[in-house]
Amino acid sequence: MSNEYEPLEIIGKGSYGTVRKVQHRQTRSICVRKEIEYKQMNNHERNQIISELRILKELKNKHIVRYFKHEHVSSQKSIHIYMEYCSGGDLAKYIRQYKSTSTQVPEEFIWQVLVQMLNALYRCHYGCDVDKVNLFKSSPTTPQINSDSVIIHRDIKPDNIFIENDVLKLGDFGLAKMLTTQNDFAKTYVGTPYYMSPEVLMDEPYSPVCDIWSLGCVLYEMCQLSPPFQAKTHLQLQSKIKRGVIPNLPESYSLQLRSIIKECITVDPKSRPSCYDLINSLSIKFLRKEMELNEYNRNLTQLKMELINKHEELKKKEQFLASLDAEVKQRETYCQVQESKFKEKEISLTKLENSMIGEFNLKKQALDLEAKEVRLNYQKEFWSVVEKAVDKEVAERMKSRPRGPQHLNDLAADNGSNILRTKNLNLYAESPTPISPQFNAGHKFRVTDEYERTRNAEVRKYRVN
Ligand code: ADP
Ligand code: MG
Repeated sequence: MSNEYEPLEIIGKGSYGTVRKVQHRQTRSICVRKEIEYKQMNNHERNQIISELRILKELKNKHIVRYFKHEHVSSQKSIHIYMEYCSGGDLAKYIRQYKSTSTQVPEEFIWQVLVQMLNALYRCHYGCDVDKVNLFKSSPTTPQINSDSVIIHRDIKPDNIFIENDVLKLGDFGLAKMLTTQNDFAKTYVGTPYYMSPEVLMDEPYSPVCDIWSLGCVLYEMCQLSPPFQAKTHLQLQSKIKRGVIPNLPESYSLQLRSIIKECITVDPKSRPSCYDLINSLSIKFLRKEMELNEYNRNLTQLKMELINKHEELKKKEQFLASLDAEVKQRETYCQVQESKFKEKEISLTKLENSMIGEFNLKKQALDLEAKEVRLNYQKEFWSVVEKAVDKEVAERMKSRPRGPQHLNDLAADNGSNILRTKNLNLYAESPTPISPQFNAGHKFRVTDEYERTRNAEVRKYRVN
């Protein structure tokens, strides 16, 4: 057995088995499962089920209970048929409610049942859906009846008309037959045949109009709150149906409706209107047009709602995008601020670096100057020590020498044996001419002059730098 569906409560007991509500485990959609046990069934009954399944598979119409699939559960010797669930129950329940409160069924609703059931029967009797109404064109020609595709329901009654979201649907095709099969309906019928046409009841050849008789009886019951033919015994009922005399309907209902119902309950099937005749009668055409317009309106309203919802969705998305945009802009500004801050920092760092480099260079120059000064001081000291030592040496040599120059000046005049020149004091290198006595008189300090000049030159060099 398929585990696809979760079994829910039993909603009815049919003539062949149980009708149960089930729920699809994945989609959570609800549907109906007709569980038919075949162990107590004879061959004839089994063939009937097979025929119902064959019929159901082909019937796809808004006003016919939708068949989904069937499965054979051999362990339970049963067949499970999965069908559309009609939450509004059946028409019999509806009529009972009015009867219990002794109120009349609104005429508008009866017209709805008539038009919607004619739509369903058109699909069954002519093998196609009825065309849309064109009020300005004459009715199309009668569709060709292909006996292979004609389905006669044969059991139209309030219990087999279901309601789902204000839409009426014909169901329970258990006793429906293809036109080509034999007439054995009256013998197999279970229950009281209140709605059965005289030809079917008499086991005479019958045509799709037998369903029109039954539909007339259902409409009659809706107006009167009791079926048109009632009797204590089966035979009495049979004779009443054969005569076809029905009590007048309440005058509160329109003459139009009453006369259509009366026409449907015509004993002679040849004089009885076909589904095609009824569906193309003026009053029903107008009603169908109205229903079509209502449907358009409903679709339009639905589309409008969908558009409104889409618009709302778009609005929300737009708002979301705008908030994203604002956030991006905020971040952009933040980034720009950060960037300018970085640039400022970079500039101040460069300035700091430059000032540090400047300071470093100044300090370096000062240190260099100091080092040079120290070096020159050392030189100065050295030369003053050397001068002193030379003076001392010269004085001592003068003392020990009996002749010759007595003074360093005399010694300087002697070009050939000048001790200062020998000592590389450059006394003459500075002057191309012989040293004059006046100049020579000051030669002792020339070392110091040389030192001063060098020092001054160095100081000038640094100042320039
Ligand atoms: P039968 O006519 O053979 O007795 P039905 O198929 O009409 O059996 O089902 C019996 C009951 O189960 C109906 O009267 C109805 O209350 C309920 N039922 C059947 N099919 C559906 C359906 N598709 N949706 C809702 N209820 C249903
Ligand atoms: Mg039924």
